[in-house]
Amino acid sequence: MDTPAIIWDVDGTLVDTAEQHFRAWARLATELNQPFTRADFAATFGMRNPEILRQLFFPLADDEQCRVLGERKEDLYRASVREQGTMLLPGVAALLAGFEAAGFLQAVGSSAPTGNLDLLLGLTNIRRFFGAVVTGDDVRRGKPDPEVFLTAATKLGSRPEQCVVFEDAVAGVEAAKAGGMRCVAVTFVGHHSAEKLCEAGADLVVESLDAVTVSQIAALVRGK
Ligand SMILES: [Mg+2]
Repeated sequence: MDTPAIIWDVDGTLVDTAEQHFRAWARLATELNQPFTRADFAATFGMRNPEILRQLFFPLADDEQCRVLGERKEDLYRASVREQGTMLLPGVAALLAGFEAAGFLQAVGSSAPTGNLDLLLGLTNIRRFFGAVVTGDDVRRGKPDPEVFLTAATKLGSRPEQCVVFEDAVAGVEAAKAGGMRCVAVTFVGHHSAEKLCEAGADLVVESLDAVTVSQIAALVRGK
């Protein structure tokens, strides 16, 4: 059997930093003298920065204005993560170690900027598990396009049918399936319902990664 390869989404799957994203947007809004509510955050969660900036604050902002404001938001986000720290979600530490012990390859495939991932993987001390880290800065097309996962598979030297993507978001599940990969979706953080994740094509939906075993994933790759 070909060696299975696991490709991990980060935010909502390995860690949960939604609160730090909220704080960063709230601080940016204060700097800009703009209103920003929990409802605004919920309505734009998962969108890319330029779209959020145009929808909430400046409908006519050009690309350069969006780039500058987006970088400011990410600076504020990283400051908030450094202040508050972050922890691995339930089941993650055991799975990372279990996949490693079983000889599986592992990579990260995330839409987040490289600076955010460097910080998160460093704070949680898990960088060593990954043979490849593909970030939003490495790809031209974001999820639901499969580019981020296909790039990670290529870097690992794996074919899509060997890969299992771990995701928490509909766009991520769609990206995995568009790439010809299997996908495990987790609802622990709860931004996307089990029903929506199933509809998007997830092969397995779990409430928590505590419920997933290495042998179950090996069987999934074998097509059982
Ligand atoms: Mg996610």
